Amino acid sequence: MTKHDGFSSDEAVAAVVAPPPTGLHFSPFPPPTKAAARDFKKLAAVHVDIAAPMAGSWFESMKDSSPRRAADAEHGDWMVTSPLHLLLLVLVFSGEVDRFGTQYFSSSGLVSMCVQEKHPSALKWFEVALGAAKGKQIVMFLDYDGTLSPIVEDPDRAVMSEEMRDAVRRLAEHFPTAIVSGRCRDKVFNFVKLTELYYAGSHGMDIEGPAKQQSKHVKANAEEAVVQYQAGSEFLPIIEEVYHTLTAKMESIPGAMVENNKYCLSVHFRCVQEEEWNDVEEEVRSVLKEYPDLKLTHGRKVLEIRPSIKWDKGKALEFLLQSLGYAGRSDVFPIYIGDDRTDEDAFKVLRSIGQGIGILVTKFPKETAASYSLRDPAEVKEFLCKMAKANKGDGAAEKMMT
Ligand SMILES: [Mg+2]
Repeated sequence: MTKHDGFSSDEAVAAVVAPPPTGLHFSPFPPPTKAAARDFKKLAAVHVDIAAPMAGSWFESMKDSSPRRAADAEHGDWMVTSPLHLLLLVLVFSGEVDRFGTQYFSSSGLVSMCVQEKHPSALKWFEVALGAAKGKQIVMFLDYDGTLSPIVEDPDRAVMSEEMRDAVRRLAEHFPTAIVSGRCRDKVFNFVKLTELYYAGSHGMDIEGPAKQQSKHVKANAEEAVVQYQAGSEFLPIIEEVYHTLTAKMESIPGAMVENNKYCLSVHFRCVQEEEWNDVEEEVRSVLKEYPDLKLTHGRKVLEIRPSIKWDKGKALEFLLQSLGYAGRSDVFPIYIGDDRTDEDAFKVLRSIGQGIGILVTKFPKETAASYSLRDPAEVKEFLCKMAKANKGDGAAEKMMT
Protein backbone atom coordinates (compact mmCIF):
# COMPACT_ATOMS: atom_id res chain seq x y z
CA MET A 1 0.00 0.00 0.00
CA THR A 2 1.24 3.44 -0.83
CA LYS A 3 2.42 5.33 2.23
CA HIS A 4 1.44 8.96 2.25
CA ASP A 5 1.05 11.39 5.06
CA GLY A 6 -2.42 12.20 6.30
CA PHE A 7 -3.66 15.66 5.48
CA SER A 8 -2.31 18.01 8.11
CA SER A 9 -3.37 21.47 7.08
CA ASP A 10 -2.92 24.04 9.79
CA GLU A 11 -5.36 26.18 7.87
CA ALA A 12 -8.05 23.54 7.81
CA VAL A 13 -10.75 23.83 10.38
CA ALA A 14 -12.33 20.87 12.11
CA ALA A 15 -15.74 21.40 10.54
CA VAL A 16 -17.17 18.34 8.89
CA VAL A 17 -19.13 19.01 5.75
CA ALA A 18 -21.82 16.42 5.45
CA PRO A 19 -22.43 15.56 1.79
CA PRO A 20 -25.84 16.61 0.58
CA PRO A 21 -28.32 13.78 0.03
CA THR A 22 -27.94 11.88 -3.20
CA GLY A 23 -30.16 13.40 -5.83
CA LEU A 24 -29.47 17.00 -5.02
CA HIS A 25 -27.68 18.72 -7.81
CA PHE A 26 -25.47 20.86 -5.69
CA SER A 27 -24.43 21.41 -2.16
CA PRO A 28 -26.43 23.96 -0.17
CA PHE A 29 -23.15 24.99 1.46
CA PRO A 30 -22.04 27.67 2.19
CA PRO A 31 -25.17 29.00 3.85
CA PRO A 32 -25.86 32.46 2.42
CA THR A 33 -27.80 35.13 4.20
CA LYS A 34 -31.55 34.86 3.71
CA ALA A 35 -31.73 37.91 1.48
CA ALA A 36 -28.67 36.93 -0.52
CA ALA A 37 -29.95 33.38 -0.85
CA ARG A 38 -33.26 34.63 -2.22
CA ASP A 39 -31.58 36.75 -4.86
CA PHE A 40 -28.90 34.19 -5.72
CA LYS A 41 -31.57 31.57 -6.24
CA LYS A 42 -33.54 33.86 -8.53
CA LEU A 43 -30.47 34.44 -10.63
CA ALA A 44 -29.43 30.80 -10.62
CA ALA A 45 -32.91 29.74 -11.69
CA VAL A 46 -32.79 32.04 -14.69
CA HIS A 47 -29.46 30.61 -15.78
CA VAL A 48 -30.62 27.05 -15.34
CA ASP A 49 -33.59 27.76 -17.59
CA ILE A 50 -31.38 29.36 -20.20
CA ALA A 51 -28.96 26.46 -20.24
CA ALA A 52 -31.52 23.66 -19.98
CA PRO A 53 -31.55 21.24 -22.91
CA MET A 54 -34.76 20.61 -24.84
CA ALA A 55 -36.20 17.33 -23.71
CA GLY A 56 -35.76 14.45 -26.11
CA SER A 57 -33.47 16.26 -28.51
CA TRP A 58 -30.08 14.68 -28.97
CA PHE A 59 -28.95 17.64 -31.02
CA GLU A 60 -29.90 20.11 -28.31
CA SER A 61 -28.29 17.86 -25.75
CA MET A 62 -25.06 17.96 -27.76
CA LYS A 63 -25.26 21.74 -27.78
CA ASP A 64 -25.97 21.81 -24.08
CA SER A 65 -22.93 19.68 -23.28
CA SER A 66 -20.76 21.77 -25.57
CA PRO A 67 -20.93 25.37 -24.38
CA ARG A 68 -19.32 28.07 -26.40
CA ARG A 69 -15.81 29.00 -25.55
CA ALA A 70 -15.50 31.03 -22.41
CA ALA A 71 -14.71 34.22 -24.21
CA ASP A 72 -17.79 33.86 -26.38
CA ALA A 73 -20.04 32.97 -23.51
CA GLU A 74 -18.79 35.66 -21.19
CA HIS A 75 -19.23 38.39 -23.72
CA GLY A 76 -21.66 36.80 -26.12
CA ASP A 77 -25.34 37.31 -26.67
CA TRP A 78 -26.73 34.40 -24.63
CA MET A 79 -25.87 36.03 -21.35
CA VAL A 80 -27.40 39.35 -22.27
CA THR A 81 -31.03 38.32 -22.01
CA SER A 82 -34.14 40.15 -20.98
CA PRO A 83 -34.62 38.20 -17.72
CA LEU A 84 -31.08 39.07 -16.66
CA HIS A 85 -31.54 42.71 -17.46
CA LEU A 86 -34.75 42.61 -15.46
CA LEU A 87 -32.94 41.03 -12.53
CA LEU A 88 -30.23 43.65 -12.71
CA LEU A 89 -32.90 46.31 -12.44
CA VAL A 90 -34.48 44.47 -9.50
CA LEU A 91 -31.11 44.39 -7.74
CA VAL A 92 -30.53 48.06 -8.38
CA PHE A 93 -33.94 49.18 -7.13
CA SER A 94 -34.06 46.75 -4.19
CA GLY A 95 -30.88 48.19 -2.76
CA GLU A 96 -28.85 44.99 -3.20
CA VAL A 97 -26.22 46.86 -5.17
CA ASP A 98 -23.98 47.52 -2.21
CA ARG A 99 -24.18 43.96 -0.95
CA PHE A 100 -23.12 42.37 -4.21
CA GLY A 101 -20.66 45.00 -5.29
CA THR A 102 -20.21 46.62 -8.63
CA GLN A 103 -18.21 43.73 -10.05
CA TYR A 104 -21.45 41.82 -10.58
CA PHE A 105 -22.74 44.41 -12.98
CA SER A 106 -21.17 42.64 -15.90
CA SER A 107 -22.60 39.53 -17.51
CA SER A 108 -19.46 37.55 -16.59
CA GLY A 109 -19.84 38.65 -12.97
CA LEU A 110 -23.41 37.41 -12.90
CA VAL A 111 -22.35 34.07 -14.34
CA SER A 112 -19.63 33.77 -11.70
CA MET A 113 -22.09 34.58 -8.93
CA CYS A 114 -24.57 31.98 -10.17
CA VAL A 115 -21.91 29.28 -10.53
CA GLN A 116 -20.70 29.87 -6.99
CA GLU A 117 -24.23 29.70 -5.63
CA LYS A 118 -24.75 26.30 -7.27
CA HIS A 119 -21.20 25.05 -6.75
CA PRO A 120 -19.20 26.89 -4.04
CA SER A 121 -15.64 27.70 -5.04
CA ALA A 122 -13.16 25.11 -3.78
CA LEU A 123 -10.63 27.95 -3.54
CA LYS A 124 -12.81 30.40 -1.67
CA TRP A 125 -14.04 27.66 0.69
CA PHE A 126 -10.76 25.77 0.79
CA GLU A 127 -10.49 25.47 4.57
CA VAL A 128 -14.08 24.26 4.89
CA ALA A 129 -13.90 21.90 1.91
CA LEU A 130 -10.70 20.33 3.26
CA GLY A 131 -11.71 20.57 6.90
CA ALA A 132 -13.19 17.08 6.85
CA ALA A 133 -9.90 15.76 5.44
CA LYS A 134 -7.85 16.67 8.48
CA GLY A 135 -5.89 13.66 9.69
CA LYS A 136 -7.13 11.54 6.79
CA GLN A 137 -5.38 10.07 3.79
CA ILE A 138 -6.18 12.23 0.78
CA VAL A 139 -6.20 10.47 -2.59
CA MET A 140 -6.29 12.72 -5.66
CA PHE A 141 -8.08 11.97 -8.93
CA LEU A 142 -7.63 14.41 -11.80
CA ASP A 143 -9.30 14.50 -15.19
CA TYR A 144 -7.00 15.79 -17.95
CA ASP A 145 -8.74 17.74 -20.76
CA GLY A 146 -10.36 20.92 -19.49
CA THR A 147 -8.99 20.25 -16.00
CA LEU A 148 -5.20 20.13 -16.29
CA SER A 149 -5.10 21.43 -19.85
CA PRO A 150 -7.25 23.98 -21.66
CA ILE A 151 -9.86 22.75 -24.14
CA VAL A 152 -8.40 23.42 -27.59
CA GLU A 153 -9.68 22.92 -31.10
CA ASP A 154 -7.06 20.30 -31.98
CA PRO A 155 -7.14 17.61 -29.27
CA ASP A 156 -3.58 16.60 -30.15
CA ARG A 157 -2.42 20.03 -28.98
CA ALA A 158 -4.04 19.90 -25.53
CA VAL A 159 -0.71 20.20 -23.76
CA MET A 160 -0.42 21.08 -20.10
CA SER A 161 1.79 23.92 -18.97
CA GLU A 162 5.08 23.37 -17.15
CA GLU A 163 3.58 25.23 -14.19
CA MET A 164 0.68 22.79 -14.07
CA ARG A 165 3.09 19.84 -14.36
CA ASP A 166 5.07 21.23 -11.42
CA ALA A 167 1.85 21.61 -9.43
CA VAL A 168 0.82 17.99 -10.10
CA ARG A 169 4.33 16.75 -9.36
CA ARG A 170 4.36 18.60 -6.04
CA LEU A 171 0.88 17.30 -5.23
CA ALA A 172 1.95 13.71 -5.90
CA GLU A 173 4.79 14.11 -3.41
CA HIS A 174 2.13 14.42 -0.71
CA PHE A 175 -0.81 12.34 -1.92
CA PRO A 176 -1.38 9.32 -4.17
CA THR A 177 -2.46 10.93 -7.44
CA ALA A 178 -4.25 9.45 -10.44
CA ILE A 179 -5.07 10.89 -13.84
CA VAL A 180 -8.46 9.66 -15.07
CA SER A 181 -9.09 10.49 -18.72
CA GLY A 182 -11.18 9.54 -21.72
CA ARG A 183 -8.02 9.45 -23.78
CA CYS A 184 -5.97 6.31 -24.15
CA ARG A 185 -3.49 5.81 -21.35
CA ASP A 186 -0.37 6.19 -23.51
CA LYS A 187 -1.61 9.46 -24.96
CA VAL A 188 -2.47 11.05 -21.64
CA PHE A 189 0.86 9.89 -20.20
CA ASN A 190 2.65 11.58 -23.08
CA PHE A 191 0.91 14.82 -22.14
CA VAL A 192 1.51 14.58 -18.40
CA LYS A 193 4.94 12.87 -18.42
CA LEU A 194 5.01 12.13 -14.70
CA THR A 195 5.98 8.53 -13.94
CA GLU A 196 5.00 8.70 -10.28
CA LEU A 197 1.26 8.91 -11.03
CA TYR A 198 -1.49 6.36 -11.60
CA TYR A 199 -3.07 6.57 -15.05
CA ALA A 200 -6.61 5.46 -15.89
CA GLY A 201 -7.10 5.92 -19.65
CA SER A 202 -10.06 5.21 -21.95
CA HIS A 203 -12.55 6.35 -19.27
CA GLY A 204 -10.87 4.14 -16.72
CA MET A 205 -10.88 0.97 -18.81
CA ASP A 206 -7.07 0.88 -18.98
CA ILE A 207 -5.37 1.45 -15.63
CA GLU A 208 -1.73 1.31 -14.66
CA GLY A 209 0.10 2.44 -11.55
CA PRO A 210 3.65 3.74 -11.27
CA ALA A 211 6.51 1.27 -11.41
CA LYS A 212 7.96 0.73 -7.93
CA GLN A 213 11.30 2.25 -8.79
CA GLN A 214 9.53 5.37 -10.09
CA SER A 215 7.58 6.21 -6.96
CA LYS A 216 9.10 6.97 -3.60
CA HIS A 217 5.81 6.07 -1.97
CA VAL A 218 5.58 2.68 -3.61
CA LYS A 219 9.27 2.01 -2.94
CA ALA A 220 8.63 2.64 0.73
CA ASN A 221 6.34 -0.37 0.92
CA ALA A 222 7.49 -3.52 -0.83
CA GLU A 223 4.16 -5.30 -0.45
CA GLU A 224 2.46 -3.07 -2.96
CA ALA A 225 2.01 -4.62 -6.37
CA VAL A 226 1.98 -2.51 -9.50
CA VAL A 227 -1.64 -1.63 -10.21
CA GLN A 228 -2.78 -2.76 -13.62
CA TYR A 229 -6.21 -3.41 -15.08
CA GLN A 230 -7.79 -3.60 -18.51
CA ALA A 231 -11.58 -3.76 -18.75
CA GLY A 232 -13.21 -4.75 -22.00
CA SER A 233 -10.10 -5.92 -23.84
CA GLU A 234 -12.32 -8.33 -25.84
CA PHE A 235 -13.80 -5.26 -27.55
CA LEU A 236 -10.49 -4.10 -29.02
CA PRO A 237 -11.02 -5.68 -32.48
CA ILE A 238 -14.45 -4.10 -33.05
CA ILE A 239 -13.28 -0.74 -31.65
CA GLU A 240 -10.50 -0.81 -34.25
CA GLU A 241 -12.99 -1.77 -36.98
CA VAL A 242 -15.40 1.04 -36.07
CA TYR A 243 -12.51 3.50 -35.92
CA HIS A 244 -11.63 2.84 -39.57
CA THR A 245 -15.30 2.95 -40.66
CA LEU A 246 -15.98 6.22 -38.86
CA THR A 247 -12.76 7.82 -40.05
CA ALA A 248 -13.85 7.19 -43.64
CA LYS A 249 -17.38 8.50 -42.96
CA MET A 250 -16.18 11.68 -41.28
CA GLU A 251 -14.06 12.66 -44.28
CA SER A 252 -17.24 14.14 -45.79
CA ILE A 253 -17.80 16.45 -42.79
CA PRO A 254 -15.19 19.24 -42.61
CA GLY A 255 -13.67 19.60 -39.17
CA ALA A 256 -14.85 16.23 -37.82
CA MET A 257 -12.14 14.05 -36.35
CA VAL A 258 -12.11 10.53 -34.95
CA GLU A 259 -9.64 9.81 -32.17
CA ASN A 260 -8.72 6.22 -31.35
CA ASN A 261 -8.39 5.89 -27.59
CA LYS A 262 -7.80 2.14 -27.78
CA TYR A 263 -10.73 1.05 -25.58
CA CYS A 264 -13.03 3.79 -26.83
CA LEU A 265 -13.39 6.23 -29.72
CA SER A 266 -13.90 9.98 -29.57
CA VAL A 267 -15.58 11.79 -32.46
CA HIS A 268 -14.66 15.46 -32.08
CA PHE A 269 -16.94 18.06 -33.62
CA ARG A 270 -15.42 21.18 -32.07
CA CYS A 271 -14.25 22.34 -35.50
CA VAL A 272 -17.46 21.36 -37.32
CA GLN A 273 -19.97 24.02 -38.38
CA GLU A 274 -22.92 23.91 -35.97
CA GLU A 275 -25.34 23.25 -38.84
CA GLU A 276 -23.52 19.96 -39.43
CA TRP A 277 -23.45 18.68 -35.85
CA ASN A 278 -26.61 16.70 -36.57
CA ASP A 279 -24.91 15.04 -39.54
CA VAL A 280 -22.06 13.94 -37.28
CA GLU A 281 -24.48 12.35 -34.86
CA GLU A 282 -26.50 10.66 -37.59
CA GLU A 283 -23.39 9.18 -39.23
CA VAL A 284 -22.13 7.85 -35.91
CA ARG A 285 -25.51 6.36 -35.04
CA SER A 286 -25.84 4.72 -38.44
CA VAL A 287 -22.50 3.00 -38.01
CA LEU A 288 -23.26 1.90 -34.45
CA LYS A 289 -26.47 0.18 -35.55
CA GLU A 290 -24.22 -2.68 -36.66
CA TYR A 291 -22.49 -2.81 -33.29
CA PRO A 292 -25.01 -3.32 -30.48
CA ASP A 293 -22.18 -4.06 -28.04
CA LEU A 294 -21.01 -0.44 -28.27
CA LYS A 295 -22.71 2.53 -26.67
CA LEU A 296 -22.71 6.24 -27.44
CA THR A 297 -22.28 9.02 -24.89
CA HIS A 298 -21.38 12.66 -25.32
CA GLY A 299 -19.08 15.18 -23.73
CA ARG A 300 -17.86 18.67 -24.55
CA LYS A 301 -18.10 18.80 -28.34
CA VAL A 302 -17.23 15.16 -28.55
CA LEU A 303 -19.17 11.93 -29.04
CA GLU A 304 -17.75 8.97 -27.16
CA ILE A 305 -18.11 5.36 -28.31
CA ARG A 306 -17.46 2.75 -25.65
CA PRO A 307 -18.11 -0.93 -24.99
CA SER A 308 -21.50 -1.54 -23.35
CA ILE A 309 -20.01 -2.69 -20.10
CA LYS A 310 -20.58 -1.26 -16.66
CA TRP A 311 -17.28 0.50 -16.41
CA ASP A 312 -16.70 4.23 -16.19
CA LYS A 313 -14.61 6.82 -14.35
CA GLY A 314 -16.55 6.08 -11.17
CA LYS A 315 -15.64 2.39 -11.41
CA ALA A 316 -12.04 3.37 -12.06
CA LEU A 317 -12.05 5.49 -8.89
CA GLU A 318 -13.43 2.55 -6.89
CA PHE A 319 -10.90 0.18 -8.45
CA LEU A 320 -7.97 2.44 -7.59
CA LEU A 321 -9.14 2.98 -4.01
CA GLN A 322 -9.48 -0.79 -3.66
CA SER A 323 -6.09 -1.47 -5.23
CA LEU A 324 -4.42 1.03 -2.94
CA GLY A 325 -5.99 -0.59 0.09
CA TYR A 326 -8.23 2.38 0.88
CA ALA A 327 -11.64 0.86 0.13
CA GLY A 328 -13.98 0.76 3.12
CA ARG A 329 -11.70 2.84 5.31
CA SER A 330 -13.16 5.83 7.10
CA ASP A 331 -9.81 7.65 7.27
CA VAL A 332 -9.57 8.18 3.51
CA PHE A 333 -10.59 11.37 1.72
CA PRO A 334 -10.73 11.09 -2.09
CA ILE A 335 -10.86 14.29 -4.12
CA TYR A 336 -11.93 14.11 -7.76
CA ILE A 337 -11.58 17.12 -10.08
CA GLY A 338 -13.11 17.05 -13.56
CA ASP A 339 -15.00 19.16 -16.07
CA ASP A 340 -17.03 16.74 -18.14
CA ARG A 341 -20.22 14.69 -17.98
CA THR A 342 -18.16 11.52 -17.84
CA ASP A 343 -16.69 12.79 -14.56
CA GLU A 344 -20.15 12.76 -13.02
CA ASP A 345 -19.88 8.98 -12.55
CA ALA A 346 -16.94 9.60 -10.20
CA PHE A 347 -18.73 12.43 -8.39
CA LYS A 348 -21.69 10.10 -7.82
CA VAL A 349 -19.43 7.40 -6.36
CA LEU A 350 -18.05 9.91 -3.85
CA ARG A 351 -21.61 10.87 -2.90
CA SER A 352 -22.62 7.23 -2.52
CA ILE A 353 -19.70 6.32 -0.26
CA GLY A 354 -20.12 9.58 1.67
CA GLN A 355 -16.42 10.36 1.56
CA GLY A 356 -14.31 13.06 -0.04
CA ILE A 357 -15.45 15.77 -2.42
CA GLY A 358 -16.08 16.17 -6.11
CA ILE A 359 -14.99 19.41 -7.75
CA LEU A 360 -16.48 20.43 -11.10
CA VAL A 361 -14.39 22.65 -13.36
CA THR A 362 -16.86 25.05 -14.93
CA LYS A 363 -17.63 28.68 -15.55
CA PHE A 364 -21.33 28.00 -15.93
CA PRO A 365 -24.06 26.59 -13.69
CA LYS A 366 -24.59 22.91 -14.50
CA GLU A 367 -26.38 19.98 -13.01
CA THR A 368 -23.74 17.99 -11.18
CA ALA A 369 -23.12 15.61 -8.31
CA ALA A 370 -19.97 17.58 -7.43
CA SER A 371 -20.00 19.67 -4.26
CA TYR A 372 -17.58 22.41 -5.22
CA SER A 373 -16.30 24.15 -8.34
CA LEU A 374 -13.23 25.69 -9.88
CA ARG A 375 -13.54 28.01 -12.84
CA ASP A 376 -10.78 26.76 -15.13
CA PRO A 377 -7.39 24.96 -15.24
CA ALA A 378 -5.70 28.06 -13.80
CA GLU A 379 -7.83 27.75 -10.68
CA VAL A 380 -7.19 23.99 -10.62
CA LYS A 381 -3.46 24.73 -10.55
CA GLU A 382 -3.94 27.21 -7.73
CA PHE A 383 -5.99 24.67 -5.78
CA LEU A 384 -3.38 21.92 -6.24
CA CYS A 385 -0.60 24.26 -5.13
CA LYS A 386 -2.63 25.29 -2.11
CA MET A 387 -3.14 21.66 -1.14
CA ALA A 388 0.57 20.88 -1.35
CA LYS A 389 1.35 24.02 0.62
CA ALA A 390 -1.27 23.29 3.27
CA ASN A 391 0.12 19.82 3.78
CA LYS A 392 3.72 20.92 3.87
CA GLY A 393 3.29 24.20 5.65
CA ASP A 394 6.61 25.61 4.48
CA GLY A 395 5.46 27.93 1.76
CA ALA A 396 7.09 25.92 -1.01
CA ALA A 397 3.96 25.88 -3.14
CA GLU A 398 3.59 29.61 -2.70
CA LYS A 399 6.99 30.08 -4.22
CA MET A 400 6.10 27.75 -7.06
CA MET A 401 3.05 29.80 -7.93
CA THR A 402 4.93 33.08 -8.14
MG1 LIG B 1 -12.29 16.72 -19.18
